[in-house]
Amino acid sequence: MVKQIRERLYAIEVPLPNSPLKDLNSYVIKGENRHLIIDTGFNRSVCYEAMLKGLAELDVDLNKTDFMLTHMHADHTGLVMRLATEASKIFFSRIDAMVFDEDNSWQPLIDFARLNGFPAEALQNALNAHPGFKYSPEKKPDFTRIDDGDVLEYGGYRLRAIATPGHTQGHICLYEADEKLFFSGDHVLFDITPHIESWDYSVNSLADYLASLDKVRDLPVELVLPGHRNFFTDLRGRIEEIKTHHHERADEVMAVLGSRSLNAYEIAAGMTWDIDCDTWEEFPVAQKWFATGEAIAHLRYLESEGRISRSTAQEVVTFRGL
Ligand SMILES: [Zn+2]
Repeated sequence: MVKQIRERLYAIEVPLPNSPLKDLNSYVIKGENRHLIIDTGFNRSVCYEAMLKGLAELDVDLNKTDFMLTHMHADHTGLVMRLATEASKIFFSRIDAMVFDEDNSWQPLIDFARLNGFPAEALQNALNAHPGFKYSPEKKPDFTRIDDGDVLEYGGYRLRAIATPGHTQGHICLYEADEKLFFSGDHVLFDITPHIESWDYSVNSLADYLASLDKVRDLPVELVLPGHRNFFTDLRGRIEEIKTHHHERADEVMAVLGSRSLNAYEIAAGMTWDIDCDTWEEFPVAQKWFATGEAIAHLRYLESEGRISRSTAQEVVTFRGL
């Protein structure tokens, strides 16, 4: 389905079957000489067909089209190599691009999950079920790497890149100051709370994320165009809700921990999740992996706030309240 948002600015709704996100908003700016597509959908045929149909409806010639990917997740980057032509530029954060430079970017994630109590025998299944493993671009894109402050100009819009680490370390939002438009990627969503996970104790992704929310909170914005679900107008109000949510989540982690010493997998199992399963055992294995990553992000944050301590004395990392 194609929606017109403003003059020369459109959104294509790309279905994401079996994903709680439901669909991806791919934004299309039609320029006089070149067009820009912001985010693409998974590398799977149902997404590809939706994109081709939407682009045909908009009469967009892919030979005259460039791409901007807000972050590395496969629902945003997956299709880019099937849509891009020789002439296409693919703008992407310098930081997230480094993940594509690694030969086996999954092994450190697997090792880290095991270090945090994820059952070793379930990890291969978790990997096979991971959308990033299944639906990423089949070959590495030749990125035009961008940083905070870079500007892309298409169709009369001036889009300024704003580095917003948290959801991923290299996540980028785009701000159009004259039109007061904010392309928020997965940094700020309206209907759901963006997933914040951590896969390395050197990174405090929740602290980064909260700082990135404050970074964009006071921008003059009339319309927020997120990566998933509905557009919205009250950026500041939504940011305050999301901040409250994460502080409540951190308190929930403290409550699960109580006076015990637990690993991140055990803590994730004790937290509440907005998912259609009655028990932790019923969770699909990939969801358990995401949940553990989200627990780790909150644990790392609580550690930095001096509320818990981390013990690495055993084979599996454990936490205890202070
Ligand atoms: Zn994402």
